[in-house]
Amino acid sequence: MNDEERIRELRALITRYNYEYHVLDKPTIPDSEYDQLFRELEELEAKHPELYDPASPTEHVGYEVQSEFRKVTHDRPMMSLGDVFSYEELRDWAAKITDVFPETEFSVEYKIDGLAMGLIYEGGRLQLAATRGDGTVGEDVTANVKTIKSIPLAIPYEGRYDIRGEVYMPKASFERVNAERRAKGEEEFANPRNAAAGSIRQLDSRIAASRGLNAFWYHVPNDRNADNHLASLDFARTLGFRTNDTNVLCRNIDEVIARIEETAAIRHSLPYEIDGMVVKVNSYAQQQRLGFTSRIPRWAIAYKFPPEEARTKVEDIFITVGRTGKCTPNARFSPVKLAGSTISYATLHNEDYVREKDIRIGDIVFIRKAGDIIPEVVRAVKEERTGKEEPWQFPEFCPVCGSKIYRFPGESAHFCVNSDCPAKVVASIVHFASRNAMDIDGLGEKKVQAFYDQGLLTSVEDIYTLFNKREEILQLEKFGEKSYDNLVQAIEDSKRNSLEDLLNGLGIPQVGEKAAKVLAAHFRSMDALMNASIEDLSAVRDIGEVTAQGIVDFFKDEHNQHMIDRFKVMGLNMDYIDTAIGKESPFRDKTVVLTGTLETLTRPQATKLLEDQGAHVTGSVSKKTDFVIAGAEAGSKLTKARELGVTVLSEEEFRNML
Ligand code: NAD
Repeated sequence: MNDEERIRELRALITRYNYEYHVLDKPTIPDSEYDQLFRELEELEAKHPELYDPASPTEHVGYEVQSEFRKVTHDRPMMSLGDVFSYEELRDWAAKITDVFPETEFSVEYKIDGLAMGLIYEGGRLQLAATRGDGTVGEDVTANVKTIKSIPLAIPYEGRYDIRGEVYMPKASFERVNAERRAKGEEEFANPRNAAAGSIRQLDSRIAASRGLNAFWYHVPNDRNADNHLASLDFARTLGFRTNDTNVLCRNIDEVIARIEETAAIRHSLPYEIDGMVVKVNSYAQQQRLGFTSRIPRWAIAYKFPPEEARTKVEDIFITVGRTGKCTPNARFSPVKLAGSTISYATLHNEDYVREKDIRIGDIVFIRKAGDIIPEVVRAVKEERTGKEEPWQFPEFCPVCGSKIYRFPGESAHFCVNSDCPAKVVASIVHFASRNAMDIDGLGEKKVQAFYDQGLLTSVEDIYTLFNKREEILQLEKFGEKSYDNLVQAIEDSKRNSLEDLLNGLGIPQVGEKAAKVLAAHFRSMDALMNASIEDLSAVRDIGEVTAQGIVDFFKDEHNQHMIDRFKVMGLNMDYIDTAIGKESPFRDKTVVLTGTLETLTRPQATKLLEDQGAHVTGSVSKKTDFVIAGAEAGSKLTKARELGVTVLSEEEFRNML
């Protein structure tokens, strides 16, 4: 294919992708692939100015409006941003500016992954909220935008005031909305950006209102209230607009890059998605001199983070068996690079998940990194099926021991019920030694499997006999003396752990890290816990009757009693070690509920902080609740707390108390 043909092909492809993305809110390729194609087209067009076409997607923003909303023509175009994908390109962009203005300062901002919105106020009242559309003509979505609570409907400003920003869906709302859609059998949104755009384009504004959207305001076109960008945003803040207080002023490109690095490291802990950073020349005088192209301002650029979504093929679906016998389906992919690592596998959770997402062997799928590490399948690209894809059935027999597997009524999971299934034994040993349980460094999955295969470890108790097996272990491949000594030391150290670590490690049904801690703190010793009745157990905060029954059954079992006796003989600590003793904290022994989205902490981080101070963190508000900590978009729990007169803390008050 020659350049001209390729240009024609790329223009057609990109136009189609723009339509799918901007009009349907349903992309069929990941952004990173789109960006590559766009870039290829830009480069080819630069090489062939004779093939210039004003209709090329490189000359346009977004896509022409095709919805039922009223069309509005923007007074000033709503532009896109130029983008760069490496620091080298970013430096080149900055150098072109500092060649002209050596004293340039840059505002460096999060690139919020939502959809652009323009607001117009007249006489202090919100008159219009419009989407970007094709940059010139957008849609009037005022009714929907008014449902976003942080947007002021009135501002203390006399004349006309225009402001632009990004409407987005916080991660917590995105997860909730997708879970609801999954439950209803509706197709999930591919990402928070498409979810936000889809919500804003609902004709019924009650739907937009239910989607937990929010917005940040980042640009005041032609602002006469300030002479630079950040001052203009400060002014907007005084009018009541939610600007992002993470914007920073950098004096040179090294500072800009340092800021990007800093943000890249924490971006996953933010309550909303960002897909890059926007760098803007701060001075309005300089911005004016630099001007615009047909699509983008020359005074700003987007640095895009490496892709976190990728497209690959499902090569196989297979089952793994966990320590409780739970059988989990997993996908094996053609290996694909995603956010710096190569991904070959992802969990598919259970039979319903595979059925609802209709994932088949041979399908092309989008995968994404959820949070920091775990990859997940976003969706199968059904449009590209060839007919050779195989729908998948849950197997009848355990792939490890061959016993029949069952799905019990009311359960989403299948189980292998053979108590001697080798997969269960290995997984329970791995769990026992894991960080949140007995924390024995050096006893990960591979080692445990190798020891099991050699008959050196056939039960959890065997861990404490490994010190006797030096010769056999040293004969194993890749096991040096030093590793052996370290392992034996780690096993020895684990004997001094507090009771909750041991309880968690035992794998009592329903007793995970949190319940183990509650039980250990309440009963203080293994003997007291073993002698507790169902009534004693149910009286403990957070322990329900089903868990209580599970605990009693576990300790009634002779095999388990024998295991605990052996642990006692081996010298394992059986008592609770109270680390909170002596620490004075207003949260000590208090029941706390977290609700809404915190700006500076994720839920697990906040929970850990509270638990370290001796608090019990629970999920629902009742009269027994001492504090409710309410972040952004707090809903029914906050209302209930107010009704019951429970003390409500803002994030800031919570931080101060800590
Ligand atoms: P963009 O999203 O790359 O960048 C421009 C937008 O960034 C602005 O319009 C604004 O809405 C937003 N933004 C967020 N924070 C900002 C801040 N602090 N300051 C200024 N602006 C901020 O560009 P675009 O034109 O909206 O969309 C193009 C991008 O969309 C492509 O790069 C691609 O990644 C994606 N896309 C994907 C497909 C697909 O098929 N996957 C198709 C079309 C577009």
